Amino acid sequence: MKEIVDYLNELIPNPKCELNYNKDYELLIATMLSAQTTDKRVNMVTEVLFKKYDSLDKLKQAKIEDIIDIIRPIGTFNKKASNVIEIAKRLDGYVPNDRDFLESLPGVGRKTANVVLSNIYHVPCIAVDTHVERVSKRLNLAKKNDTVYEVEKKLTKKFKNYDLCRIHHQLVLFGRYYCKAIKPECENCKLKNICKKEKQFKYF
Ligand code: SF4
Repeated sequence: MKEIVDYLNELIPNPKCELNYNKDYELLIATMLSAQTTDKRVNMVTEVLFKKYDSLDKLKQAKIEDIIDIIRPIGTFNKKASNVIEIAKRLDGYVPNDRDFLESLPGVGRKTANVVLSNIYHVPCIAVDTHVERVSKRLNLAKKNDTVYEVEKKLTKKFKNYDLCRIHHQLVLFGRYYCKAIKPECENCKLKNICKKEKQFKYF
């Protein structure tokens, strides 16, 4: 673990969430919107959305057609627009530190709840997205057939002596910019010696 943490600290010394937000509920909504799309696209639409609807009160009274028009570029916009309004209605003015409540919101699963709890309340947890899953399996931190929940449990245990919120961001960014799904940058990677992919045990 130390070898991995040291390398991630060297490569990504200042990790942070790449979704833009200024308020706790904006992070929750932006993360919900990020399913099956990129943070870059989400940031494009939330810049417009959160400027026009700058409070939960305004969001809960929004017309769904208008939200659809704004978030159309990110896909699955009908469902996501309905989720935005429903989430605004269900929140009582703020995002609570309550996993069960968060996971009961439409479009919000364990991964989104983890992102919110970790970023807003510094709850030590790791949200396993596609990048974290791929990197974990390549680095032998999880098995090929592990579910995302199994990957999360293994990472939480293995990195229990480290800052999980920081490790989470570093794993996401390492997967997004270095250990990419296609053409990962293995040549200069200092984790080659522990990487399954590099040893030709193909994960994908
Ligand atoms: S050697 Fe390549 S596949 Fe393995 S962790 Fe490094 S970048 Fe990823």
